[in-house]
Amino acid sequence: MIIDDTSDRNKHPSQEVNTSDITAPRHPLILIVDDDLFMRKILVRYLERENYCVIEAADGMEALKLYQERQPDMILLDAMMPILDGFECCSRLQELPNGDHTPVLIITALEDRESVDRAYEVGASDYVTKPIHWAVLRQRVRRLLDQANLRQQLEAANQQLAVLVKELQRLVSIDGLTQVANRRRLDSYLEQECNRAIREHIPISLVLCDIDFFKNYNDNYGHQEGDRCLQEVAQAISKATNRPADLVARYGGEEFAIVLPNTDSEGGLNVAVRATEIIRSLQLPHNYSQAANHVTISCGVATLIPSQHFQTKNLLKAADLALYTAKAEGRNCVRQSDLTED
Ligand code: GH3
Ligand code: MG
Ligand code: MG
Repeated sequence: MIIDDTSDRNKHPSQEVNTSDITAPRHPLILIVDDDLFMRKILVRYLERENYCVIEAADGMEALKLYQERQPDMILLDAMMPILDGFECCSRLQELPNGDHTPVLIITALEDRESVDRAYEVGASDYVTKPIHWAVLRQRVRRLLDQANLRQQLEAANQQLAVLVKELQRLVSIDGLTQVANRRRLDSYLEQECNRAIREHIPISLVLCDIDFFKNYNDNYGHQEGDRCLQEVAQAISKATNRPADLVARYGGEEFAIVLPNTDSEGGLNVAVRATEIIRSLQLPHNYSQAANHVTISCGVATLIPSQHFQTKNLLKAADLALYTAKAEGRNCVRQSDLTED
């Protein structure tokens, strides 16, 4: 039998005094499970006097049902009961949501070593024997509730910390001005993806992009306009990539890098051409460029299937060389390194 917990007897008087005051501290809710009606009554009286809210169940099955309905903060559980005894009940509780975080205090006349061992084995937090020593019970209830409370606070703090760490990780890998990956992230990602390419023997492409005559842009339009231009170019380059593994990063001042894992030379060339076209389509005025009357970029592309002897810096060097060729051959164009696969 479940004693109707909506009845006045199962509510602590202080709960009803002022329901509008949501800031009032909540009284912990304790579920008492005992088949002995007299025992339940004296436990209820004692705990209510200690300012706890109390609900009752007469056996293990009712306790599990009531636990799921009301989510009590703690359970006082008699070991010997009909239908489902305290040990089995405690064991099943551990499987319910948050069950293993709800303290269970087993109260029983059983004092033999086997029963005490079994109580802890099935997940009980502590154990007191009948006849009840009230001062001891009072302290154990308080201590278990305090521990559960601390655990909850610790879990909440851990969750907040995990969110902060994630945000911090994001911030340390992002370039503040352009919001694409920064040099630190580029270096580690390139290393990681080159290692993967070696392991899996797949190609990797790298595109280096450099804004043409950007010094002239800054000198004539001012540094703030220069910064805004860098932001627009970074976003435009990002739009040229499609795959989740592609990474756009700020390589230095007005240079950007695009890492293209598992991408052959044709794919690398396509992305570079798309980036130059997107930037061209923005038609950002640049009256001091000798390449066009709007902002343009030059790109160097390098691709290879790395061998064990391959080093990341070789790929960077090859892309840089191709970029240098693009600059030398008139800018506003894409050139590809003839780095051969080994
Ligand atoms: P090229 O066509 O050969 O690439 O010529 P360039 O003028 O673009 O290249 P150069 O390396 O001579 O000048 C790059 C300029 O980029 C220098 C500096 O004024 C500008 N620059 C670098 N970093 C920043 C930045 O964070 N903000 C702004 N506004 N300008 C930057
Ligand atoms: Mg430049
Ligand atoms: Mg440059």
